[in-house]
Amino acid sequence: MPELPNTVIYQLRITLRGISPLIWRRLLVYAETSIADLHYILQLAMGRTDSHLHRFLIHGKEYGIAYDGGMGFADDPRQMRVADFRFRLRERFLYEYDFGDNWQHDIRVEQIVAEEAKTVLERIQQRIVEQQAAEYLRTQRSCLQCGNKRSHKGDHRVTIRTLFGKLRLTSPRLYHCQCQPHRVRTFSPLAERLLERKTPELLYLETKWASLMSYGMTTKLLDEVLPIGKHVNAATVRNHLQAVAERTEAELGEEQVFFIDGCPRD
Ligand SMILES: [Zn+2]
Repeated sequence: MPELPNTVIYQLRITLRGISPLIWRRLLVYAETSIADLHYILQLAMGRTDSHLHRFLIHGKEYGIAYDGGMGFADDPRQMRVADFRFRLRERFLYEYDFGDNWQHDIRVEQIVAEEAKTVLERIQQRIVEQQAAEYLRTQRSCLQCGNKRSHKGDHRVTIRTLFGKLRLTSPRLYHCQCQPHRVRTFSPLAERLLERKTPELLYLETKWASLMSYGMTTKLLDEVLPIGKHVNAATVRNHLQAVAERTEAELGEEQVFFIDGCPRD
């Protein structure tokens, strides 16, 4: 039998035991994902804060990250990878978190997919983003004030980061219409629209994760969960979080001190 390619993705379905209505998540993790990282991924996916003890129960044996005063484990969770367990389809294992509340998560291996699936996702993403860009550009071809067609000066390429990797898009440069005064003669609507050079989904994930944990850990997780990590580092994640925070702040408008009982700066 031919060996599976190096990078294999496991589709896991996580259900929380004894809770109604059912709480469940579906995750894709690399076969190379360590047990320690799977723990972090589960914490995120289930909206937990990693503030209690945990353990995995796999093939009758316990695994997990040991903490002072907690239980110990025979194997290093950073060395044990999902692939090492040679899971079969539909096989189950258990993840327990917080031995006080005792949250028991059944994890079932729903699918084992080869890396090629990622390429399919990349292509789909490329088509979707191209389509979105084309639709946006259609609204920019004519002057919004007088409706006259804007002249086309030329094209350049912009690189956009998405959840599934980098995409290159053609970004046209257009002349401003003469009907209104402008500081500059030309502009690039697409480049201006995508200031952060990222799709909103990626920006959302980066920002959301970075607000929950360290930039380094966010980068590591992005690398683990999505095929984009090579292009992301802690500094970019921090810059993006900053940019999004500043934009959100600006959108809130002027602080209305008048309505607050006393000035908060007093
Ligand atoms: Zn005009």
